[in-house]
Amino acid sequence: MEYQRTIGDKIIIEGEGVFSGKWIRVELEPTEKSCGILFIREDLPHKPVIPLSIENTIGLEGLTLITDGEHFIYLVEHLLSALHALQIDNLIVRVFGEEIPLLDGSAYPWVRKVQEVGYKFLLVPKIKYKVTKRFSFENGESKIIFEPSNILKIRAEIYFNHPLIGSQSFEIEINPWNYIREISFARTFGFKEILLERKNKGILKGGNLSNALILDETKVLNPEGLRAKDEFVRHKVLDLIGDLFSGGKAFLGEVKATFSNHRLHINALKNLFSTNCLEKIESRALTFFFLPKRLKKRF
Ligand SMILES: [Zn+2]
Repeated sequence: MEYQRTIGDKIIIEGEGVFSGKWIRVELEPTEKSCGILFIREDLPHKPVIPLSIENTIGLEGLTLITDGEHFIYLVEHLLSALHALQIDNLIVRVFGEEIPLLDGSAYPWVRKVQEVGYKFLLVPKIKYKVTKRFSFENGESKIIFEPSNILKIRAEIYFNHPLIGSQSFEIEINPWNYIREISFARTFGFKEILLERKNKGILKGGNLSNALILDETKVLNPEGLRAKDEFVRHKVLDLIGDLFSGGKAFLGEVKATFSNHRLHINALKNLFSTNCLEKIESRALTFFFLPKRLKKRF
C-alpha cells in the first residue's frame, strides 16, 4: 500500500513576479485532509480557492495557469513539477499575488525547501492516473505520445536553431532521486530579443538574469553559464512533469514529447482525460518513504 502524503511543515518562499514586477509570497501549508492540491489567492478579499484539476488548468505557449474562470494564478508549472516528482498528494498553496515567482527559473528552490521539511503521511491509499491505452496528440510539428506503464517515464526532444541548443533529447524515469539529481536544477530559457520586446510592450514588468537562462544569438548571457550542456531539454522534461500533474494526482505512463510546449501538453491531457485511455487506480507500488536530504547538487 502506498499512502498519501503532504509536506512535514510549512514552507514560505518569496520572489519577484516576472509579469507583475511585484514581490510575491507563497506559503505551502501541510494538510491532514485528502483534499488534493488547493491554490488560494490570499491577496484577494474573498480568498478564492482554485483546486488543481484538469478543468481548471490552461496551457499557453510559455506557461501554465490555473483558474476558476474568474481568478487566475500564472506560472504554476515549476512548483507543480516539484510537487509531482516529490510525490506530494495534498497541500494548501497560499499565493499572495497572481503568479508564482520564477525564482532561479528551475524547480530546485522548491525541492530544497521540501527536502528540509520532509513528508507527513495520511493513512489513505494514494490515487493515481494511469495510462491504459496508447494515445497521441499533435499540432503541426509538435507531438506527444502516451503509452501504458506502471511508472512515469519521460522522453523529450527539442530543436532550436541556436548554436548552443540545436537538437537535444533526454529520457528518464521519474522518482524523487532521479528528479533531484537530473532535472530539478534545469532553468527555463529565453532569447534576449524576444524578452526585450516583451519588456518594452509592458508584458514583462519584472525578471532578470537571475530568473532564467537568457541567450543572445551565440551565447548564454548569464555569467555563471549553463548548469549542464543539455539544460534546455532537461527543463522541457521539468515542465512536462509539472503539466502531467494538472489532473491533481500522480501520473503513470510513458510520455514522449517532441517540440512540445505547455499549450500542447495541457490540450493533449484535456483530450486524454476525455477518453478511456486513462484510468484512476489505487497505488500498490513500492514507495519512497524518505526524501534524500543530502543528494549533491549537480551544478
Ligand atoms: Zn518552464
